[in-house]
Amino acid sequence: MLDYREKPEVGALRAQLRELVDEFVPRSYLGAFTHDPHDLEIAENFCQELGRRRLLAMAWPTDFGGSAASVWEQTALREEMWAVHEPRGAQYMGINWVGPVIMKHGTSAQHEKFLPPIAAGEVIWCQGFSEPGAGSDLPALRTSATKTDGGWRINGQKIWTSYARMAQWCFLLARTGPSGGRKDGITVFLLDMNQDGVETRPVDSMVGNHHLNEVYFDDAWVPDEAVLGTVGRGWDIVTDVLAFERVGIARYARCERLLQWAPKALGAAWDELSPALVDRWTMALVHTRQARLMAYKIVGHQERGGLDPADAASYRIAVTTLDQEVAEVLMDIAGAGGLGTPDTARLFERAVEDHWRYAQASTVASGTLEMQQQLLARALVK
Ligand SMILES: Cc1cc2nc3c(=O)[nH]c(=O)nc-3n(C[C@H](O)[C@H](O)[C@H](O)COP(=O)(O)OP(=O)(O)OC[C@H]3O[C@@H](n4cnc5c(N)ncnc54)[C@H](O)[C@@H]3O)c2cc1C
Repeated sequence: MLDYREKPEVGALRAQLRELVDEFVPRSYLGAFTHDPHDLEIAENFCQELGRRRLLAMAWPTDFGGSAASVWEQTALREEMWAVHEPRGAQYMGINWVGPVIMKHGTSAQHEKFLPPIAAGEVIWCQGFSEPGAGSDLPALRTSATKTDGGWRINGQKIWTSYARMAQWCFLLARTGPSGGRKDGITVFLLDMNQDGVETRPVDSMVGNHHLNEVYFDDAWVPDEAVLGTVGRGWDIVTDVLAFERVGIARYARCERLLQWAPKALGAAWDELSPALVDRWTMALVHTRQARLMAYKIVGHQERGGLDPADAASYRIAVTTLDQEVAEVLMDIAGAGGLGTPDTARLFERAVEDHWRYAQASTVASGTLEMQQQLLARALVK
């Protein structure tokens, strides 16, 4: 039976993180990928501050720059960060899944090379999985890796690659050979983005012009030491990546913060809202709390060393549809007019709009809603 009460050290950590956010992150911050380059700088400085205090990769072993914290402390970190528009910027990916997967499948040399810079907040990774013909059907990927002396030549194209223009490294999937089933012959490469043969092009979108990109590989090169795991067996690693990734974002934490903020932002105008809209706000808050409890059930499993795929898929469905429900309720509340004092109102409106934009993408990124429903159905009939 899971004990949902928060331990004192987790409460103390939250207080410490809130102080750090107050000190290093302006109240107007809405994520690192706005049109203002200063926002990326804020995220990078903040990550290094967290890294110096060993708070960035808290749950990692001390040898790799972590502080061997519990999964509950890591969960509190995730919640506190997402609630305030993720001031770690792109680096949350390194912490949530790139590092843990390298830790699990990498050699000691790869551990030494790649993990400490992630824990210190010094490096941005991007994820080179999706291609124009391979999204939901990821095994259809065609980017190729051809063996050469001491390494591999990479050719092909990726798309929707978040943060590719600011990333130093790419966690890349490429086909090293057709063999057996479609999931065979795929290999994971840890590719240096800073080389001839790698070209990134922005894809402007409603989530901002710095977020999504195309990446072209024209005879890019990776040394043999940069293969993660076994050549041709990359799919085993992909399964781990997706499991870490899909439970890695505490979306409910931002939903709760924005919902709680709404009455304060509206001030006296809150009492003028229609009862139907206030009912929707109340239900959204209930769904937010339910999603939090589902997340804690998964964290409880992780603490015992397991992750049930049905739990992961049902959590992902709940939390991404929650994002959209909350986005719609908040848009209607903000649009109902009569917001409180101009400064608070402006900050609230901007935060709601930012949340709304990202919420539209939440049921597509890291596996669409339909694919999650299929995963859940399969897990339940097993
Ligand atoms: C904000 C954002 C960030 C992203 N970041 C990254 C990134 O960093 N790296 C990366 O590699 N990718 C990234 N992606 C890409 C994302 O993983 C893909 O968009 C996603 O996997 C869907 O693939 P697709 O876009 O090719 O759509 P498709 O797979 O073509 O799907 C189109 C529609 O068809 C439905 N569909 C497809 N197959 C089935 C089926 N078998 N049964 C039922 N319905 C089906 C889908 O559910 C969807 O509604 C990102 C996407 C977004 C939106």
